Amino acid sequence: MSAGETGARVIRCPACGGPSLYSPDNASRPFCSARCKNNDFGAWASEGYAVPADPDPDLPEPDAEPGGALPH
Ligand SMILES: [Zn+2]
Repeated sequence: MSAGETGARVIRCPACGGPSLYSPDNASRPFCSARCKNNDFGAWASEGYAVPADPDPDLPEPDAEPGGALPH
């Protein structure tokens, strides 16, 4: 399997930048806690995908009208 995975390591939490226990005991790894895990996931789902690095001309703009000015 993987080498060097016998013991727990302390890495940097991607969400808060604090120490995070990277071990099978930490279900939220690589995050330090479930809160950071959910926090980061939410940021990815909302902000991460709202800023495309390569806009496709075939795709309609997902947030062209961020208000209630939709021509419905
Ligand atoms: Zn954290």
